[in-house]
Amino acid sequence: MAVAYFHFSRELNDFLPRHKRHTKIVYSFTERASIKDMIESLGVPHTEVDSIEVNAKSVDFCYIVQDADNINIYPISARNSIYPKIELRPEPLSSIRFVLDIHLGKLATSLRLLGFDTLYRNDYKDEELALISHNESRVLLTRDKGLLMRSLVIYGYYVRNTNPQQQIVEVLQRFDLFNVVSPFQRCLRCNGILEAIAKESIVDQLPETVQLQIDEFHRCQNCGQIYWKGSHYERLQQFVQSLMANGN
Ligand SMILES: [Zn+2]
Repeated sequence: MAVAYFHFSRELNDFLPRHKRHTKIVYSFTERASIKDMIESLGVPHTEVDSIEVNAKSVDFCYIVQDADNINIYPISARNSIYPKIELRPEPLSSIRFVLDIHLGKLATSLRLLGFDTLYRNDYKDEELALISHNESRVLLTRDKGLLMRSLVIYGYYVRNTNPQQQIVEVLQRFDLFNVVSPFQRCLRCNGILEAIAKESIVDQLPETVQLQIDEFHRCQNCGQIYWKGSHYERLQQFVQSLMANGN
């Protein structure tokens, strides 16, 4: 039987059972397997991995693990190694866009509120999510580790928090997005872009109090939803401000 030694750095340990965290893991194997498969069989989705070193040399996910290999695995957020690394993904994303699994509806709304291009439907199937993420180079956000282990998924992130308010802060921090937030530009319902619209053209669709009090309106270019700065807007603005405070 062959044996390899795995050492996971920093927050990759979140995915390991308690007794395996921050220790050298002795992994016995008999069958030929790629390092991606072995990392995932230990519970860590490949989307969380920034780089891998085997015996002090950088390797990619296809590397076949050999007997007595000494393996260091680094998370995306931090890497302290001195060795030049092999990139595990085709290229860094030039602009960030998301697709979210069906359990993250509130997080999807918050991301849209902050202006991020965010696909979400409460009936997406796992195959669809993986395919959309792959085809459109969207970061797949999910709390389903199995979904992130699909080979199609190149860019993905396992959301640690379960509370939606903490989730949005976590995502802003993880992807360093505080400086690119652009609130009230997108439809919360469908992700469409909002455009300014003249009051005259929609006045018959407005409640009477709004007709009298509000003059500025936006409409979703995609679904036609009309937005104005009512009491709801003030609550949302406070929400945005409270989120931004986490970026200081
Ligand atoms: Zn819309």
